[in-house]
Amino acid sequence: MKWTDASSFLCLAHLAGACLLPEERAGGSIRRHNTRQIRNSGKAIGTGDRFNGGALFPIGLGSGNETDMSTILNVKEVNSALQGLAKEYGFETFTTPYTTYEGATMSGGTVGGQGTCDETYRVFLNGAIHARERGSSDNVLYFIADLLYAEKHGTGLTYGDKTYTNADVVTALSTGIVFLPLSNPDGVAYDQSTNSCWRKNRNPAAATNGDDDTVGVDLNRNFDFVWDLSKWATSVADEVASEDPSSEVYHGEAAFSEPETQSIKWVMDTYSKVRWFLDLHSYAGDILYSWGSDTDQSTNTAKNFLNSAYDSVRGKTSDSTTTGYGEYISSADLDNVSSVGKRMGTAMDAATGRSYTVMQSAYLYPTSGASDDYAFSRHFADPDLNLAYGYTVEFGFGNNKASCPFYPTDAQYIQNLQETNAGFMEFLLGAAEVGLGDSQAC
Ligand SMILES: [Zn+2]
Repeated sequence: MKWTDASSFLCLAHLAGACLLPEERAGGSIRRHNTRQIRNSGKAIGTGDRFNGGALFPIGLGSGNETDMSTILNVKEVNSALQGLAKEYGFETFTTPYTTYEGATMSGGTVGGQGTCDETYRVFLNGAIHARERGSSDNVLYFIADLLYAEKHGTGLTYGDKTYTNADVVTALSTGIVFLPLSNPDGVAYDQSTNSCWRKNRNPAAATNGDDDTVGVDLNRNFDFVWDLSKWATSVADEVASEDPSSEVYHGEAAFSEPETQSIKWVMDTYSKVRWFLDLHSYAGDILYSWGSDTDQSTNTAKNFLNSAYDSVRGKTSDSTTTGYGEYISSADLDNVSSVGKRMGTAMDAATGRSYTVMQSAYLYPTSGASDDYAFSRHFADPDLNLAYGYTVEFGFGNNKASCPFYPTDAQYIQNLQETNAGFMEFLLGAAEVGLGDSQAC
């Protein structure tokens, strides 16, 4: 794990532009590849349903007794795996009350905790908000499968060189986990059927002249966190998100305009004691914690995302937080989010020997309307809502031989599972240790 401090990172970023990763790069300059040009689409997508409509259940990598992982889970399999798990282990599933443009629904489950009431779940794992980031849903589902298998069989879990005891499994489950493995079902279905390196959802509203680039909203710019681009410094307003439908970071017509983001908000509203949120992306090899809007500072509470006095300077990470703007975060909150982030990075590195970078989100580049910032901001925008720490984890390191680098090779897919699942374990153990908020046994 590399711990990257602000000054060295900003230097590198400004000199080389190396940090403008295609995963989140603003401005829509990354174009999808015409399917006729596809040379290599990486690991294959499953063609049938290995869980037979939920009659069979998945077993993760950590138990050493895993399901056939020769292909990536298709959309149907993500849903049948969830049903199979719920049937085998007897936990509650939910379907959010929103339907996508192509008629799909979004389902998840709740495991562990201290009862079955909505208030007992304190950790939220979200997968596949960006369609092309293949393996995201698999990482979430197989991890939940591992926890439940290990609990039932009284075993521990092994991810590469990282091992966890059965006591660790019990502690991890005690946090109470709500998970939504596939939060962009239309986008994933489209990407899997076309190999088009598709990122957004499939909202057709802005489509013009038959141009497929203008279909879809970047769901991770559609949350209600400084969504309005007039609240950013003009020099960054076209980078934090875009009002151009052809952009890869088009933020939609309004915050929460999309059924997929409404669904994630619904999960946070319904499981109202969520204290830790993790949104799983690829492929930067990063663990990112709050804030994503500007440089963190813990000295001036007036400099915060709600204060319109700073609209003209928000997002300029190169300015001084003393004379310019930095996003306020208390030193206690900063210690908590950064320490659990570092803990995750150390475990993910130990699993396979690859090196993850742990840093504040804004040092990748400032973003508007992202899920992790929204999760953390809820309490500050409305003190009646629970305080929740937000993370973006970018697994993987890119497939440089594929037409779309987000498509893993067979070996990368397995390595990604080992790393994310060790990271998830550490996330839960860290959450349990740092704190879960009000105890809500029920
Ligand atoms: Zn992403």
